[in-house]
Amino acid sequence: MADKGRKYHRSQGGKKVRVDLRRNKQVRTRQQNLTNELLGDQEAAADTRHSERVSGRGDLSRRRTLVGVTSEGSQLLRVVDEEGLRRGRVTSFIGLHIMVRDDADQQEYACSVRGVLKSMARDSRNVVVTGDRVLFRQEGDARQAVIERVEPRHGLLSRGSQGREHILVANIDQVLIVGTAADPEFKPQLIDRFLVSAERLNIEPIICINKIDLVDPSTLLDHVRTYGKIGYNVILTCAVDGRGIDQLRHLLRNRQTAVSGQSGVGKSSLLNCVDTKLGLETADVGESTRKGTHTTRRARLVSLSFGGWVCDTPGIRQFELWDISLEEVDGYFIEFRPFITYCHFQDCTHIHESGCGVKEAVSQKLISETRYNSYLRLREDDIWVWKNPARGHAKQ
Ligand code: GDP
Repeated sequence: MADKGRKYHRSQGGKKVRVDLRRNKQVRTRQQNLTNELLGDQEAAADTRHSERVSGRGDLSRRRTLVGVTSEGSQLLRVVDEEGLRRGRVTSFIGLHIMVRDDADQQEYACSVRGVLKSMARDSRNVVVTGDRVLFRQEGDARQAVIERVEPRHGLLSRGSQGREHILVANIDQVLIVGTAADPEFKPQLIDRFLVSAERLNIEPIICINKIDLVDPSTLLDHVRTYGKIGYNVILTCAVDGRGIDQLRHLLRNRQTAVSGQSGVGKSSLLNCVDTKLGLETADVGESTRKGTHTTRRARLVSLSFGGWVCDTPGIRQFELWDISLEEVDGYFIEFRPFITYCHFQDCTHIHESGCGVKEAVSQKLISETRYNSYLRLREDDIWVWKNPARGHAKQ
């Protein structure tokens, strides 16, 4: 029974929710695993004992009823008593511990996860992810804690693995897509792939063209115009002489930003310029140590001293185009949309058909030819290869 003085998260107090058992729970030894999982976790054990029903009609029909749970969209949320709980943000995973930065004291806590949250998760890999906003309870040693509730997520960066979604980071407000004016040469195709990805994930992109000290910046104007006309924010930066850094700082302030771009484009150098307290390693120091961090697929959040968070998103080539079907690509080239309605065929691919609104718009220079070429290449090359891994790897 809730006593009156206590504050419960979400006033409705939860309800019964039927959930499918997770795949890795659909095994005969489930009961035993649960017992182990819940050992030393009395509250979760009690929750489970009172709430679980298994139909016994075979693996595929197994469902359980959880109580003390509410839902928001497709997300299940645990109803908890907030008294004694702290609020924070998951910054990284270190070994078995989830590191959470406390909103109030800004200290990092090594957290485990309350067992019942694992039962609620639809996929064991997404129980708690980097970027999650959580409620947690300090337990045991000074900086040890248990995550009691994961708040509703937005802005998910994810990738596919064995046909299932693996969330890399949650609560991303915007993606900073970093390319270079030179060294390596400017590749609109690559920028466009990230843009498609951002559109697919419904996360606002910012295009950053770095290393402008290596070219005459006027040579970039056409590209800046193209993206600007579509409505994208484009900034030109130089981590060597500081051009564009104030503008970048302004865009990052108080937001959670995923930083994307190939290795070597200057992501770390830029962030170090934006916030001199960061001290991220760049290619100029410790290339060998950086290699290790680049191979990890786990994301890490870094807090900015002027407010906000940045997340270096590793494994970009693998996750960026996950789960995009050929038929939907045109919709993610957002300036194509008004012209698609003029296509004669409803399933027009905008490649070879007559009466194509998109090709007509390209010929009238209403759509940039570079963007259209990116579309063709993405359809024919990257996604085709992604869907047919045996045929080889996508080109850079
Ligand atoms: P990251 O892999 O994207 O994090 O790239 P780094 O920050 O490690 O930078 C890669 C290389 O590019 C380093 O040698 C940097 O010194 C260099 N670099 C970064 N930004 C600039 C820039 O604006 N101009 C020039 N000329 N070099 C840069």
